[in-house]
Amino acid sequence: MKKLAIIGGGAAGLAAAVAAARDAAGDMDVVVYEADERVGRSILATGNGRCNFSNARVDAGVYRNATFVAEALGALAEDMVESGVEGFPETADDASPADTAGGASSTGTVGHRVLADADPSVDPVHAFFADLGLVWREEGEGRLYPLANKASSVLDVLRSAMADFGAVEACERRAVRLDVPERPGGRFHIRFADGAVEHADAVVLATGGRTARELLPAGIPVSGTRPVLGPLRTATDVVKHLNNIRVRGAVSLAGPDGRVKACEAGEILFRDYGVSGIAVFNLSRFAEAGDRLLIDLLPQVPEDGCAGFLHARRKRSTADGRPLSREAFLRGMLLPAVARAVLREAGLAPEAPLAKRDVAPLAAALKAFPLEVRGIGDERQCQVRRGGADVAAFDPRTLEACAVPGLYVVGEALDVDAPCGGYNLHWAWASGILAGRSAARRLAD
Ligand SMILES: Cc1cc2nc3c(=O)[nH]c(=O)nc-3n(C[C@H](O)[C@H](O)[C@H](O)COP(=O)(O)OP(=O)(O)OC[C@H]3O[C@@H](n4cnc5c(N)ncnc54)[C@H](O)[C@@H]3O)c2cc1C
Repeated sequence: MKKLAIIGGGAAGLAAAVAAARDAAGDMDVVVYEADERVGRSILATGNGRCNFSNARVDAGVYRNATFVAEALGALAEDMVESGVEGFPETADDASPADTAGGASSTGTVGHRVLADADPSVDPVHAFFADLGLVWREEGEGRLYPLANKASSVLDVLRSAMADFGAVEACERRAVRLDVPERPGGRFHIRFADGAVEHADAVVLATGGRTARELLPAGIPVSGTRPVLGPLRTATDVVKHLNNIRVRGAVSLAGPDGRVKACEAGEILFRDYGVSGIAVFNLSRFAEAGDRLLIDLLPQVPEDGCAGFLHARRKRSTADGRPLSREAFLRGMLLPAVARAVLREAGLAPEAPLAKRDVAPLAAALKAFPLEVRGIGDERQCQVRRGGADVAAFDPRTLEACAVPGLYVVGEALDVDAPCGGYNLHWAWASGILAGRSAARRLAD
């Protein structure tokens, strides 16, 4: 029998194994080689153990290498719709269109079914999971979580489908070298850390962002990877006074030339080394040392209205003729430590009386409180790695390497990443399913 080897039993590898084994229907060996002592450990750690496994509204535009991702997601949708009726068991024929979309937050509907109607608007990843029996619900910003609220329920449905379709888990098998076939129709050779060698007719490389480079054959361009989607380290003179304070604001990231690279809104958590929070995580994808974060501490007040807002507040606060210190002026608007930092940035002594001319520098500090970026804050908290195999070397309709027939690269091993919100796992599943199905088809020919 032909054999498909999947190197890496994380999100993309397991999705590839299920998709390939299901399509092959026993006519092909599907083996997942995993370095760890169990598969799916990376999945269990996601979403604080709850696994934000996808998003209700996936837009390829949020991804790095968006055109490639759009083509791949489109190809997967077409492929699953075309073969859906035979490839995916029909379920819940009475499902409403809202159900087929996997759930709607407005109604609290849970996702539970799929492809029988072959509706192209059905997201193929949601279709895949619904057919495995996963039930989920939607939280804020379209984030999808398993209904059981545990990442283990996502892993459970994947492993159980693997067992049902005959895919095999081979754990504690760290691949250290991949040799591609020397002639058309030849086999791949995979060497493991213990010296053993296995052979396969096709390979899906699903090792995540950290180790893909070591295994990718020469000739496939690959960039080094760096951790992103994590907290940022900044100059500490300001933040050391603000440790553990949270503010709700808008934050933009500007390069050394002042050009704004990206903006986010949400909670910002100050740490003694820098800043954290989802808004910061998302900006970290674009941040480099020397950039500046500009935090808008009054996002509800438009930039051109801020001075007016402060003048009106000053008038109100001093209406009874009492002198008002600058620090007292900010009381009730900002936490005291944040107020002191803002005054320091504006060059204003806190105890001095608030003068009319103070409003302009205060408004500037409130609307664009600056922090100089030094780098990533804590690599261990980063959710993805930026970089990896150059997407230009792969066919987006199959994820097969153009130069190495039979080799597929998926998930974070490719140079694709996205902001928080379930998009990274969505890509891992989608790319895994697409490659698994493509590989099964290739080996069936
Ligand atoms: C703390 C944390 C929380 C996250 N939360 C979310 C979230 O809620 N939602 C979301 O969308 N994304 C989240 N992510 C990102 C998401 O987990 C990844 O994008 C996704 O897991 C990537 O899937 P992958 O299969 O490419 O890689 P991985 O899931 O990392 O799997 C790679 C697998 O390959 C194995 N491996 C590596 N090298 C070898 C080798 N040489 N031989 C054999 N096996 C090997 C690894 O042990 C691992 O099991 C989170 C990430 C982290 C770190």
